[in-house]
Amino acid sequence: MSAVYRDSGSIAADDGEVTIRGWVQEIRNLGGISFVIIRDRFGTVQVTLPKKKIDPAVFEGLTSVSRESVVYVTGNVKESNQTDLGLELIPSSFKVISPAAVPLPIGVIDKVNAEMDTRLNNRFMDLRKPEIRAVFELKSILFDLIEEAMRELDFTWVNTPKISGSGAEGGSTLFEVDYFGKPAYLAQSPQLHKQMLMSTGLDRVFELGPAFRAEHSNTNRHVTEFQSFDGEMAWIDSQDDIMATLEKIMDYIFRGMARRGGYFLGLLDKKIRIPKRPYPVLTYSECLRMVRERGLDLKDGEDLGTEGEKIIGDIMAEKDRELYWITEYPEDAKPFYIMEKEGTPFSFSFDLDYKGQEISSGGQREHRYDVLTERMRKKDLDPEDFEHYLDAFKYGMPPHGGWGIGVDRLLTKMLDLPNVREGILFPRDVSRLSP
Ligand code: ATP
Repeated sequence: MSAVYRDSGSIAADDGEVTIRGWVQEIRNLGGISFVIIRDRFGTVQVTLPKKKIDPAVFEGLTSVSRESVVYVTGNVKESNQTDLGLELIPSSFKVISPAAVPLPIGVIDKVNAEMDTRLNNRFMDLRKPEIRAVFELKSILFDLIEEAMRELDFTWVNTPKISGSGAEGGSTLFEVDYFGKPAYLAQSPQLHKQMLMSTGLDRVFELGPAFRAEHSNTNRHVTEFQSFDGEMAWIDSQDDIMATLEKIMDYIFRGMARRGGYFLGLLDKKIRIPKRPYPVLTYSECLRMVRERGLDLKDGEDLGTEGEKIIGDIMAEKDRELYWITEYPEDAKPFYIMEKEGTPFSFSFDLDYKGQEISSGGQREHRYDVLTERMRKKDLDPEDFEHYLDAFKYGMPPHGGWGIGVDRLLTKMLDLPNVREGILFPRDVSRLSP
């Protein structure tokens, strides 16, 4: 067997004899001629088998391999006006490297779509569909772009622990684990650690990593493990500095996705729309008025919720705006570390919403030790439980603020996918812990 390997992306008419490695996607037997379609990472290659012109053992063998088996097929590359590639392979030998069992758990090229649960149970097979795989190629590009944007803006990439003796916000959405006989918790966000870093001189940090939330919400936007893109920056004058930075980052990401995602976006039949800058700023109070006008009866201070966010999304879409800020949330709806807007019931906080869904929240943090501990007490938290965190505020802490973005949500909204699980290879939720 020839060792000149080619794939569907690099095969050429003057290649001579080559070996193609891939999965048997489809076999068509038309009597005197058969076609075997081999799929690899980059697409498909047609292997053409004119019965009379090739070795009978190759003909019989290759046309009876089960679908999705892994094969190596060696043959000559020929031009063809019958295939999309303009090429075909006339086989001289083949090897079945790993036969696929029959029947397949789900189809790869079948038009009928399996239920999401069945697809996720058989994710390895689901991912053989190019348009499903494309989502994860795009996710990889998205991570590259985040990293580039952050380097450009002089942020340092950090890693904070994912397992800790106490949780970020002391909330009920923590997963408890047994840590050598003592309780520990999976990190629901890097919040406390990234803030502690603001007292060190690292000044601008970002992190890409998993966040764990024991959320019982069985919605299309909540999972129990998601990828979080967090940033925190010191020496800010106000939260406007954070919003301006995040806006630059988002713009870089959107432009990058549109430019670099081309081939994979094509597989999904999607175009990335680059949101117009500056992103509009709505206050929470304005949003409350807007949703009430559309018939949703929310009380003062109440979370906008899925329905409220959707209404705002619809109103903004009518104005051709997809990405927008919502600022000035009531301080009592926000965690202890957010700075209050003195003399008002509001806070220096924002959400960034995209097409009717929150994708990020952030704000200016309370850096004054006394005010911070006071806010903790107001929220029924015991400052003693946050000793190590608070130490970082006792000995000189600059004004700072930051954000957290759900990468899976951002990606799925960008691609208009109906469920955040579509953007996660092996999602975890209330009822799913495997594969
Ligand atoms: P929501 O109100 O939508 O539940 P949240 O207010 O709990 O979100 P934050 O704690 O502000 O979310 O987290 C910041 C970002 O992390 C969110 O805007 C979202 O993009 C993402 N995120 C939070 N929780 C989840 C989750 N359970 N699944 C997927 N992404 C999440």
